[in-house]
Amino acid sequence: MANNVCSECGGRIVGLNYSSGGKNYCQTCFDKLTAALSSQEAEKQELLKYIREVFQVADVPADVVSSISREIKHGKTTKGIRSTIRYYYFIEGNPTVNISNLPYIIQEQYEVARAYAKRIKEVKEKNAEIDLSTESVNIKINPRDLDRKNQKKVAYNIEDL
Ligand SMILES: [Zn+2]
Repeated sequence: MANNVCSECGGRIVGLNYSSGGKNYCQTCFDKLTAALSSQEAEKQELLKYIREVFQVADVPADVVSSISREIKHGKTTKGIRSTIRYYYFIEGNPTVNISNLPYIIQEQYEVARAYAKRIKEVKEKNAEIDLSTESVNIKINPRDLDRKNQKKVAYNIEDL
C-alpha cells in the first residue's frame, strides 16, 4: 500500500491522493510543494522582467531563459543572478548590447559579483564599527550606483546569497 504513504512526510494519506512527478503526497505536503514551485516560478518571472528592462528587449531569447533555468536548478539563486547582472553591467559599466552573452556572463561573473558584495558588506560593517576608519579601501564605484536605493539593494542581496 505504498501509494497511501506521502513521499514527503511519510505519513499515511487519508482521503485523496495528490500525485506529482510519479509521487504521491498528502494534501498538506502537496500544497506546500505547489506553493514552493509557484513562488520559484514567480521569482524567475521577476528576474526575466528585470533582464528585459536591462537589455530593453520585448522578449528574453529562449536559449537564455533555458540557460537561466538550468543555473537555478544547479543552485544559483534568482537574487544572485540579479546581483550579478547589476554588478557586471551597472557597477562595472559593461554595455548592455548583447543579451545572447548573458548566460556566459552569469557563469563567469556570479562568484565575482558575490565576492564584491561580500567586500562591500565588510566595509560597511567596518565603517559601522569605527567612526574614523584610517584604512583605505579600493572599490570601483560607478557614479550611477551612488544612488542610495541601489546600494541598499546590493547590500540586501549579499545577505541572501
Ligand atoms: Zn505529507
